[in-house]
Amino acid sequence: MPDPTPAAQALRPPSIDSLLRAEAGQALVAVHGHAATVAALRAAVAVRRARGASDATSLLADAAARLDARAAPMLKRVFNLTGTVLHTNLGRAILSEAAIGHASMAMREACNLEFDIGGGGRGERDTLVEQLLAELTGAEAATVVNNNAAAVLLMLAALAEGREIVVSRGELVEIGGAFRIPDVMRAAQARLVEVGTTNRTHARDYARAIGTGTAALMKVHASNYRVVGFTSSVSEAEVARIAHGAGLPLLVDLGAGSLVDLRSHGLPHEPVVREIIAAGADLVTFSGDKLLGGPQAGIIVGRRDLVELLRRHPLKRALRVSKIILAALEGTLLAYRRPDRLARELPTLRWLTRPRDEIRAQAQALVPRVAAALGDGWSVTTADVASQVGSGSLPGEAVPSVALAIAPGSGSAAALDRLVAGLRAAPVPVIGRVADDRLLLDLRCLTDADGLVAQFARLEIAP
Ligand SMILES: *Cc1c(COP(=O)(O)O)cnc(C)c1O
Repeated sequence: MPDPTPAAQALRPPSIDSLLRAEAGQALVAVHGHAATVAALRAAVAVRRARGASDATSLLADAAARLDARAAPMLKRVFNLTGTVLHTNLGRAILSEAAIGHASMAMREACNLEFDIGGGGRGERDTLVEQLLAELTGAEAATVVNNNAAAVLLMLAALAEGREIVVSRGELVEIGGAFRIPDVMRAAQARLVEVGTTNRTHARDYARAIGTGTAALMKVHASNYRVVGFTSSVSEAEVARIAHGAGLPLLVDLGAGSLVDLRSHGLPHEPVVREIIAAGADLVTFSGDKLLGGPQAGIIVGRRDLVELLRRHPLKRALRVSKIILAALEGTLLAYRRPDRLARELPTLRWLTRPRDEIRAQAQALVPRVAAALGDGWSVTTADVASQVGSGSLPGEAVPSVALAIAPGSGSAAALDRLVAGLRAAPVPVIGRVADDRLLLDLRCLTDADGLVAQFARLEIAP
């Protein structure tokens, strides 16, 4: 074979071995190990050869960048500018500083998770928050598991295994992420007895369905939809009367379950756990990371004898929460003892109640900064929008808000796509929503305005 021409030589990349022997290659091996460095070098060679830039220096720099990126965590901070305050895909509730501090303590130090400091003996982890939950809901007892789906599963498995649960057809909900009431019933080995119709269920429907195999009546909060028009459902108080008349308990899956009446904060009404307990529910389950504004958890409150049955069920041990979650939950719940400060302390409530005028002022101040960072050819304005609470809270209710509306001057759909993708690829990804050929960034949950502008300043995208 004749010698390769100089041009062909320039295109042939250095061997992986020679790159590994180079000083920079040795440094990468020392930090990241041999196998990862070889993989990064191979990837760099493959990409750079296609581009014709395959000198040793640029290959080693490319590999170093790949290895650094690999060392960075996959889970990272993002800007939630979707307008959905409790966004399940973006981690739902943001915790209060008190909750974060308390959880940090539990991570850093030994703590009395299951230790009775007073008596010196073994304790029960639920007691850490049981008193608070009882006080805040009016219930006798409480227990905590991994999430509300787990709470419903445990409740049904402990109280209705092999027996029947009566539920209205209008309440057979599916929540995102494959939580469907009929499927949970099956998993708990309880038999679902559907009563009424999709739009109308009457008291007599519940009464007629009760038989010797009935374990309980159940109400499920229609959290992510609404039945409107010719409708009728039976209140918790009335279903409780029917259940108790037959010597049965009423179980309620409340979903978001607020601990305070949101109307006192200028928001639409959402069922309050205390009201449902007062109406006669024997057990109520709800999420810790929805309207409560705490960590992911499933909270069950109600009659002490029933809570004890749940505690003794083997599933409780499998579904229990960690000390980190219990600490975060206690830190969150303590804020509810100070109702005057609640909306300041809990980010969820703070954002939900943030006045539109304040958001508008923030948007107006950001328009020139974002426009300057993007450069010519982009239109940046403000737009009146509606925020959602999210996570199945207050369905159909929207909270007035203001967004930055960004569109390419060219009107090109491809340019808009590039902007959306570029913001997703930013060091702190910016997540908004596209509507009417523009990107809407709802500022309701924005606290770090400078940080947001910095993400735009790094973009280089043609309009
Ligand atoms: C959200 C919701 C659930 C599931 O709660 P997770 O905490 O997400 O497990 C169950 N039931 C209802 C009615 C809900 O709204």
